[in-house]
Amino acid sequence: MKTPFNLILVGPPGAGKGTQAKRLQDRYGLCQISTGDMLRAEVNSGSLIGQQARAIMESGGLVSDEIVIAMLESRVQQPDCARGFILDGFPRTARQAAALDAMLAHLGLRLDAVIELKVDEAVLIDRISGRFTCAKCGAGYHDTYKPTRVAGVCDVCGGSEFKRRADDNRETMVARLAAYRADTAPILPHYAAQGRLYAVDGMADMDHVAGAIELLLG
Ligand code: ADP
Ligand code: ADP
Ligand code: ZN
Repeated sequence: MKTPFNLILVGPPGAGKGTQAKRLQDRYGLCQISTGDMLRAEVNSGSLIGQQARAIMESGGLVSDEIVIAMLESRVQQPDCARGFILDGFPRTARQAAALDAMLAHLGLRLDAVIELKVDEAVLIDRISGRFTCAKCGAGYHDTYKPTRVAGVCDVCGGSEFKRRADDNRETMVARLAAYRADTAPILPHYAAQGRLYAVDGMADMDHVAGAIELLLG
């Protein structure tokens, strides 16, 4: 793979986007841009954007296109993205996809691949119910599929505090899945028409999924 390399990871909540984005970041030096992480940082800081986004995120709806597009626009231009970026959780609507096309054209950047992680809905509840992250370094874990090597200690930084997301529950998941079906899945044909869409079996274990992605990136 020659860098810069610009990717989109797309898939329903719990599909493994964040997990795979972190691996691509470590392996290829790409920057992971997670609009969900950026919005959670805004909520935690109590900013105006965070105040507007909080209730929407807790209900499982989508934050307004204006807010997310503006956030992304400044992020892709930061120096750590010079080797390329992985969009994790963006675009999620047709308007975001159109804004991204315009933004990339304006910046003279190309989109290399859109990778769709395909996972059966029945598995997703299990994925998000067991999800937790290290409070200190953000490393991602799962109660069953990726527990810490030593109970209660982060593999990466040795931290001992962990967080679970307020929206990772069954009720919110129903709304998040509905939003994925109604607003996000319909943008995939746009990328298929450009010949940039690649589907990967997200049901396999994390190493296999990572291997499949590496294979298609050549
Ligand atoms: P998941 O891991 O479930 O895919 P994310 O962390 O990407 O979730 O997003 C969490 C929440 O943040 C979403 O349910 C939505 O409310 C909001 N959000 C994240 N990215 C976007 C986006 N591109 N457009 C609108 N809302 C977003
Ligand atoms: P997303 O960013 O798409 O919402 P995550 O990468 O956060 O998804 O993964 C959701 C949860 O499932 C996490 O707890 C993660 O450790 C776990 N997970 C990710 N990929 C797999 C996989 N291939 N098999 C089993 N569990 C996985
Ligand atoms: Zn840690």
